[in-house]
Amino acid sequence: MLKWKTEILLGIIPVLLLFVAFMGVDYLPIVMIGVLLIVAWFVVRMQRSGGAIGATGGSSSRKGTNPKPSFLDFNQIGGQDQAKAELMEALDFLIKKEQIAKLGIRPIKGILLTGPPGTGKTLLAKASAHYTNAVFSSASGSEFVEMYVGVGASRIRDLFKEARMKAQKENKQNAIIFIDEIDVIGGKREGGQQREYDQTLNQLLTEMDGIHTTEEPRILIVAATNRKEMLDSALLRPGRFDRHIEVDLPDKKGRMSILDIHARNKPLRGDVNMEIIAEQTFGFSGAQLESVLNEAAIYAMRTNEDRLTQKHLALAIDKVMMGEKTDRETNQEEKVRVAYHELGHAIVAEVVREGSVSQVSLCPRGKALGYVRHNPPADHYLYTKSYIEDQIMIALGGAAAEEIFYGARSTGSRNDFEKAMELVRMLVGSGLTNLGIVDIEMVPKKELMNENNAILNALMQRTKQLLDNYKPVFEQSLDVLMTEETLSGEQFRIMLKQIAS
Ligand code: ATP
Repeated sequence: MLKWKTEILLGIIPVLLLFVAFMGVDYLPIVMIGVLLIVAWFVVRMQRSGGAIGATGGSSSRKGTNPKPSFLDFNQIGGQDQAKAELMEALDFLIKKEQIAKLGIRPIKGILLTGPPGTGKTLLAKASAHYTNAVFSSASGSEFVEMYVGVGASRIRDLFKEARMKAQKENKQNAIIFIDEIDVIGGKREGGQQREYDQTLNQLLTEMDGIHTTEEPRILIVAATNRKEMLDSALLRPGRFDRHIEVDLPDKKGRMSILDIHARNKPLRGDVNMEIIAEQTFGFSGAQLESVLNEAAIYAMRTNEDRLTQKHLALAIDKVMMGEKTDRETNQEEKVRVAYHELGHAIVAEVVREGSVSQVSLCPRGKALGYVRHNPPADHYLYTKSYIEDQIMIALGGAAAEEIFYGARSTGSRNDFEKAMELVRMLVGSGLTNLGIVDIEMVPKKELMNENNAILNALMQRTKQLLDNYKPVFEQSLDVLMTEETLSGEQFRIMLKQIAS
């Protein structure tokens, strides 16, 4: 686009000058001013871009134009100790050139970072550039996708060219090219309609094969994806992306360190306990943790306080987990049904896992009309059959309560059922059902459906039986919920114990 504009201007200016000369006007001062303006524009542009050309052939890349990527080092990334250690070891190949040449080691050309969104893959790539004193260029897979055949391939060429030029200009020996969402261009090639993607991927493979170990600058490609299983095997073979590093959701220690990093520029009240926040944010990614602190600061601003408190942080966790409070007004009848539903979840949760309910609420948030906040369990990586069955019962508790009190369910259980089905799939996939050890893909649909139904029906029966014994708890908690809208875990447990004893 810019190129076109320039060409049109170059065509128009001489014609204008000729016209003005023809009219007998002295245009020399105008030309001088024009030249001065153009020189000034070039100087400003060079200063702004640090001498670099756009990462993807003129279209500014989403993360590639970050003005100070090299200032990010590994210490500014919380948790991810294993990923950082593996990455640093791989990056040492770029640094210890003589040693690897002496031993005849083939240097790495590509590192693949895999893991859920927001876990810090981009941060790790940027820190890698700092660690190896390399220039950093980046682009996202979706930027290569064009309707026109060949454009993606030429953008890949430009990306590599730009990285080399940037390194030469900055007198650096290494260049790191980061390609985010590589699955967009690197998906399995199965023929058919994907010609444009195929050409882009082929160009990437060609560029990678063209990287020579003796070449200067040395180029290393770091790519990121959430869907490694989608990638074409040509990308993953030795000599291409043969280092795969998992960048997983952080554990409690990791969450603490990420929270600490993002709390550095925020004033916290002395009694804020970050350990509790780390505990309650089980399953959160780094990006979500950053958002918790940011939202807490916004709550502090709303209430005109100059420090973040534990309450702001708790509200922020709810917001990140469930969405902003909505002012959707439900009618009384609906509210009572929601209350029975949420109490159903809460009672099952507390019975199967004592102390697990943190709050029952009837405040609509996001799409939910009410919710139960659970105290997160300690970080788990293995689950037993009975643990998963308990989780399924907690998910079914809402629908079971509606059946007990209304004789029928409502649409409010849709998400719960999705969760329950996901857990059933986990049971089947782990060989924990009557189907034995199976590959889910290979089980006939009917057989799978029968097994799913059998598991869910049996657990629904168990859930209803359990809740039947706690009818008085429903009635008493309902009164509090309808007046207060929330019920704390402690209040709820006291009621449960009093009535049960
Ligand atoms: P995606 O797969 O969606 O591209 P990503 O894994 O590349 O995500 P990043 O872009 O690196 O994630 O992280 C997004 C933001 O989340 C960062 O800017 C940072 O604020 C925060 N963040 C994520 N992980 C960490 C971490 N380990 N330490 C500190 N901050 C983190």
